[in-house]
Amino acid sequence: MNIHEYQGKEVLKSYGVTVPNGKVAFTVEEAVAAAQELNSPVAVVKAQIHAGGRGKAGGVKVAKNLDEVRSYAGEILGKTLVTHQTGPEGKVVKRLLIEEGCHILKEYYIGLVVDRGTGRIVLMGSEEGGTEIEEVAALRPEKIFKETIDPAVGLQVFQARRLAYNIFIPNDLISQAVKFMQALYSAFVDKDCSIAEINPLVITKDGKVLALDAKLNFDSNALFRHKDIQDLRDMDEEDEKEIEASKYDLSYIALDGNIGCMVNGAGLAMATMDIIKYYGGEPANFLDVGGGATVEKVTEAFKIILSDSKVRGIFINIFGGIMRCDVIASGVVEAARQLGLTKPLVVRLEGTNVELGKQILSGSGLNIVSADSMADGARKIVSLVQ
Ligand code: ADP
Ligand code: MG
Repeated sequence: MNIHEYQGKEVLKSYGVTVPNGKVAFTVEEAVAAAQELNSPVAVVKAQIHAGGRGKAGGVKVAKNLDEVRSYAGEILGKTLVTHQTGPEGKVVKRLLIEEGCHILKEYYIGLVVDRGTGRIVLMGSEEGGTEIEEVAALRPEKIFKETIDPAVGLQVFQARRLAYNIFIPNDLISQAVKFMQALYSAFVDKDCSIAEINPLVITKDGKVLALDAKLNFDSNALFRHKDIQDLRDMDEEDEKEIEASKYDLSYIALDGNIGCMVNGAGLAMATMDIIKYYGGEPANFLDVGGGATVEKVTEAFKIILSDSKVRGIFINIFGGIMRCDVIASGVVEAARQLGLTKPLVVRLEGTNVELGKQILSGSGLNIVSADSMADGARKIVSLVQ
């Protein structure tokens, strides 16, 4: 789960990570009042969306007085920001962070991630902050330094110190930077984060080390033990279809293609996406209906796929083990009846109650193309949507 920058900064602040003073605003009036309260010569008006790259897209503006705060807030609120992380459709700005402006001497990058290779948390840093770290990693990998953290002892002072030296934090600010990294690490572990990215971390003219941006991602499997974090969820930032899917406990992820997929089992779902791509198609989603899906669940899953306007055809690929083919077939028929199916549908069923499932489908009067194998099904759906 993702949260907004201002929320991330509040969480981090409670662990001792230094952040500028700031306040969230939902209206222009609130933005002006927040700036007044800050009582700082410069206030920064920052769009709050679940995506980075806001600065380049015009979503971060430095205001020198309250009039400028008013006009920037008016300009950014309600605007659709298109950044390299939002996709071409962009995201509508509904909240702002009004923050103390600081005099930046230099920008750095600091991040914590779970590294699947080592199975450990890795602290990363670079002197090239402010820019996209992906770009630094691709073009100047020698500018990124890493410290792998042993979970038994946590982030050690010598590691944080070594990283600070490697990225050229000035000597007089090293101990502040070390404290900063340790506080960030505590927050990360305590709150079960999967990513904590500070880009940029800055050093200021008045000798401070500050997090100017904060991106926190949380492991959804651990959210049950963090009620406070759950409360920060902003449904406006999430895909409607994904929210709907989570209500029915379906593993659904929206993608950019035009072939809707309904599959049982995460591995088979991945393989189905691969084979669609192999035959030149693009999947519109990942969807695993799971092992013990009911007719109701399958119906909802099918409705979610159909509600995606990009979908031009559907491929159902079921290997019935625990999942019974007749249950899938009944769900599909039910959903198609409720919604009126006009798009091409290719079905490949195999396994438990396969004959019964095929009977239900063929007796339904729906226009269904049946497939003998995964490859056959993928080829058929790809040619039908073209
Ligand atoms: P994004 O990564 O989405 O573009 P950031 O929060 O990193 O947004 O802001 C972009 C840039 O704006 C920063 O790299 C920094 O130069 C500047 N900036 C952000 N917040 C402040 C602030 N409080 N004071 C001064 N400059 C800021
Ligand atoms: Mg940033």
